[in-house]
Amino acid sequence: MIIVMKPGAPVEEREKIKEGLIKQGFQINEIVGTQMAVLGIIGDTSVLDINLLRVNDWVEKVMRVQEPFKRANRAFHPDASVINVAGVPIGGDKIQVIAGPCSVESREQIISVAQDVKAAGAHLLRGGAFKPRTSPYAFQGLKEEGLDLLKEAKAATGMPIVTEIMSADKIDRFVEDVDLIQVGARNMQNFELLKELGKINTPILLKRGLSATIEEWVMSAEYIMAGGNSNVILCERGIRTFETYTRNTLDLSAICAAKKMSHLPVVVDPSHAAGLWWMVEPLAKAAVAAGADGLIIEVHNDPENALCDGAQSLKPDRFAQLMKELKGIANIVGRDV
Ligand code: PEP
Ligand code: MN
Repeated sequence: MIIVMKPGAPVEEREKIKEGLIKQGFQINEIVGTQMAVLGIIGDTSVLDINLLRVNDWVEKVMRVQEPFKRANRAFHPDASVINVAGVPIGGDKIQVIAGPCSVESREQIISVAQDVKAAGAHLLRGGAFKPRTSPYAFQGLKEEGLDLLKEAKAATGMPIVTEIMSADKIDRFVEDVDLIQVGARNMQNFELLKELGKINTPILLKRGLSATIEEWVMSAEYIMAGGNSNVILCERGIRTFETYTRNTLDLSAICAAKKMSHLPVVVDPSHAAGLWWMVEPLAKAAVAAGADGLIIEVHNDPENALCDGAQSLKPDRFAQLMKELKGIANIVGRDV
């Protein structure tokens, strides 16, 4: 981090700032010109509050050289991380596809969709049991019963399961039964939940918040990693923009940016990004072409009557077709599905 003092700043002010930083364990490299002085702060500056350093009236500007995240930072971990989700490696050469309904609705529904997506070549099964709905009157999920049904679907197909956690009091149950714990977009900055998830080892699928910058998203991954859980997978799921045609706007550039900033795998959710089933296929292909390590796609056997997100759900046969077509795109970018 670099602090530039204003022209003519008294030496005592500079000394005061230096003293405070030295007390915190930093080393200071000073460059004193005829008009201005610059302080280079050496140490782990991720703990420093940049705005606090700007409070001194004699400070012209403060700049970070190193990003405020350390554990998630590609600079300190040049190799891409591969996260093992119950034997399925996410982040390696193979693009892993997570598929299933938005919500678990019944035994028949989840088993049937699980068998269909498995036959089509999906690697993991998704299904919401605890649902974050905008309206309190909308279907809220089958909750614990939904987790039981996911377990049955896993037993029937052998597919590891992915489902969303909404509160820390359910962590023990999730650790027991869930292979990849999803943190939804609305909870990306639920810091107390992130801290608790940092204490376990189960992999976490961290969705990007509706209006979160890429750095804020990576900082949320840092929260989980700072607690000791380094099994974090990032998920781009579309962000809020001025556009209303689609539910959200898929930020393809976030795949490239997140992979440059961080060593963590990046999975893309074209279903929630578009909100329209017919856009899922081209967006999934675009995501793979842009370097995504995986996809999470909503599939429903009866989308017209789905209790949640039917409009963005693929029918099983369309999903099977997409899986075939994804292979070609993956091969072009030197990967496989
Ligand atoms: C979901 O995956 O069903 C979901 C609610 O996603 P998001 O948090 O991205 O809206
Ligand atoms: Mn959904």
